[in-house]
Formats: sequence, structure tokens, C-alpha cells
Amino acid sequence: MNIFLMIMKISICGAGASGLFASIRCKQINRNADVTVFEKSDQVLSKVSVSGGGRCNLTNNIDDPKALAMNYPRGKKELISPFYRFGTMDTIRWFTKKGVPLKTEDNGRVFPVSDSSSSIVDLLINETKRLGVKIKKQCGIKHAFTSSSGFDLELSDNTFYHCDRLLIAAGGEIESEGIGISRHLGHSIQKQIPSLFSFSLYDHPVKELAGVSVKDIIISVPEIRLSQRGAILITHQGFSGPSVLSLSSLAARKLYERDYSFKCTINWCPGVSSEKLRESISCMRKQSATAIVHNTPIVTIPSRLWRALAGMSGCDSSMTWASFTKKHEFSLLNKLFSSEFNVKGKAANKSEFVTCGGVKLSEISLKTMKSKICPGLFFSGEILDIDGLTGGFNLQAAWTTGYIAGESMAHDKD
Ligand SMILES: Cc1cc2nc3c(=O)[nH]c(=O)nc-3n(C[C@H](O)[C@H](O)[C@H](O)COP(=O)(O)OP(=O)(O)OC[C@H]3O[C@@H](n4cnc5c(N)ncnc54)[C@H](O)[C@@H]3O)c2cc1C
Repeated sequence: MNIFLMIMKISICGAGASGLFASIRCKQINRNADVTVFEKSDQVLSKVSVSGGGRCNLTNNIDDPKALAMNYPRGKKELISPFYRFGTMDTIRWFTKKGVPLKTEDNGRVFPVSDSSSSIVDLLINETKRLGVKIKKQCGIKHAFTSSSGFDLELSDNTFYHCDRLLIAAGGEIESEGIGISRHLGHSIQKQIPSLFSFSLYDHPVKELAGVSVKDIIISVPEIRLSQRGAILITHQGFSGPSVLSLSSLAARKLYERDYSFKCTINWCPGVSSEKLRESISCMRKQSATAIVHNTPIVTIPSRLWRALAGMSGCDSSMTWASFTKKHEFSLLNKLFSSEFNVKGKAANKSEFVTCGGVKLSEISLKTMKSKICPGLFFSGEILDIDGLTGGFNLQAAWTTGYIAGESMAHDKD
């Protein structure tokens, strides 16, 4: 039977960014569709609410799809074509046109001018209401069974619901019910592990520096030959900040395999050569011989960090440049260019935490977000084996895949 002669029943598992965006796009295209979003918790868009520290970094201003896709350690190749369909500029236009003015901050991160995620949350909720999307809170989907004309869903209240199309947008929770449903419907799962985490240090040697940040460093994990340049924040547990989070994302699987126990090195002044530093030291010895090494940094790093590195190089707090030996020089250069730390464990990054792994992309058409295995089944958002760096990339992937899934479900005639 042609379901377009009937009212098409579309179910969405999960009222997060991608599920709600999909529901809105679906209703925009097909007003007659009966779209129901099932949400297991009592709150919709809970992650969007807390995203970006409550400010919601909803996208980035990189507009070229190929350059944009480079920010996704998983999904790099597959996301290029979806970004041509609905990219960052489409997101910016969409929210702006609907009445939420946006602004761009450092590293291209885009936020609402209000600096409050509630602008984004309220808009999306109002749009679902305006378009007649039904949202069932505290009503999770426990199982989905294929039937001759779609799916029978078993809900958390033990009732059943029949639908013609099913979108799984259940987010990145590891081994969630959404993953169980995907597996049951024939999909393979790339092992799910955390991404975007901070490094915890074993026997934290610079704990007294908690709160110090440095704008430009290079952090490396030599045994896997991966490095990232950027800002770092020293925390009570260890290291965080953009360079660390990017490295955790790029190296997510390799660090997981090492049970988050590895050595990292930090170059605290990548913009300066060793020759230049030697010259500066020689100059200090001649011209500022009586100055205290601890009080006269020769590189532009926070003075607390300089004092700690000088101390770790064997200079006590009263040592002058006159008594700064070649041995001290060797040791200080080594600390400035390659301080070594033992990482033992990871810490949740409070401003963003995503899952690497999920439903395998090879089993999905990224043109439609439709399953290649199970007719009538669609996927969007973080449940997929897609994750990005920090900077608005994860929400952008949710908008893009949700938009395409919503549109395809509205059109889908199979
Ligand atoms: C603290 C934090 C801050 C973040 N900040 C940013 C940021 O500023 N910028 C950015 O780009 N990204 C950010 N992210 C990542 C981003 O929020 C996620 O990548 C994005 O929300 C994923 O959207 P989603 O719709 O796929 O999943 P989610 O937003 O996780 O939504 C999935 C929904 O499905 C529901 N659900 C799960 N299983 C079922 C079921 N069986 N039945 C019914 N419902 C179900 C869940 O309760 C949830 O509401 C942040 C993440 C965290 C944790």
C-alpha cells in the first residue's frame, strides 16, 4: 500500500539535538506526517542545555565542507557530502532566520548572542510545537521489531507503538538501549569509547600550578607519534585545554588501548629556538649576573610556571644568573622544550565530552542517513561512529545528520 495515501507514522528515538532537528525538518517537508519523538528522560535537549558551559557552542564558522570535515577524527571522509547539503552556514542562517542572533568567538566558535543555551533550546521546542511534532517524555524505546509494514516499538511503559519509519537518534551513551536496538536491527557497532577528555597525571608534579594556562604549547605522546599545538590549562588533576582535548580526540583509540597510561611531553615555548634561548641565557649571565633566575623569565610563559620549571632544573629560589651553570642550562632547555609527564587516567572534560565509535558508517547511506541493512530505518547524531574536536563540531554533526534524516524520512517512499 502507498503510505503516502495514508498518514505516514514516523518515530524518533531521542529528543536531543539531532532527533528534534530531524523532527522539525520532517514536518517542514511533510506536514501530514505523524511525527512522534520518544524521550526516555523527563527533559528534552538536556545536553544542548549544558553545552558550551551553558552558552551552547552550536557550530563553527568554517564553511568549506572539506576543511570542516577535517575536524572530525571519525567521519572525516563521510561527512564532506552531508556538509554540502547542510553545513555550518546553513546552521547559522537557520537559527538567525528563526530569530536567534549569533556571534562568532575565537577559533570560529559560534554562540547565541544571549550567551545562553536556552535561546537555542526554546527555539527548537517552540518549532516542534508550531509544527505539531508529538513529544513523549519519560517514554523510552526499549526494543524495535520489524513488521511487514514498518516497526513495532516496545516502550518503557511496556506498551507497543507501530510506525512506518524509525530514526534512532539516541546519542552517544555507551552500550545504550539505542545501540542494542541498532544491533538487533542488523547493524554493526564500532566499539564505543570516550573522546575529548583531560589527562590525569600520576603523582602530579605541577599540582601547585593548577589554574595556570599557557596560550601556545605543543603536547606530544611520543610512543604514538601524535602532537597537538595550542593552549593548555593546568588543573588539579593534570592537563586540560584545547591542545589536550584535541589530542585526546585524535588519539582516542590508541590511548584507550594503553588504558590511559602513557608518557607525554610538553614544549612550553614552541615559538622560540634553542639558539635564541642560549643567547638569552648568555646575555643574562653577562648583563644581569646578580638577578635571581626564578624572578627573571627569559621566555613569555606565566611566571609561576617559569619558577616551577627553573626549580625542576635544579635552580633554587636564590640562585643568580652568575651561578647558573652549563648543567643548569642543559636541564632548563630540556624542561622548556620537552618536559616529560606520566599520564595515568583521564578526567571528564566538563565543557564537552563525546563518544568515539557507534553505528558503523559503512552500513548507512550518508546521502539519506538511511540504513543499508534495514528498510525504513534511519540514524542521526552521536550514536553514529562520528565525533569531532571541540569548537561546535559535534553539534554541527547532529544538526547536519538530523536535517538530512528528517528530510529523507519525509520523502522516503520505499
Ligand atoms: C557537557 C557537554 C557539553 C557539550 N558542549 C558542546 C558544545 O558546546 N558544542 C558542541 O558542538 N558539542 C557539545 N557537546 C556534544 C554535543 O552536545 C553532542 O554531540 C550532541 O548533543 C549529540 O546530539 P544527539 O542528538 O546525537 O544526542 P543527545 O543530545 O545525547 O540526545 C540523545 C537523546 O536520546 C535520549 N535517549 C537515549 N536512548 C533513548 C531511548 N532508548 N529511548 C528514548 N530516548 C532515548 C537521551 O535521553 C537524549 O535525550 C557537549 C557534550 C557534553 C556532554
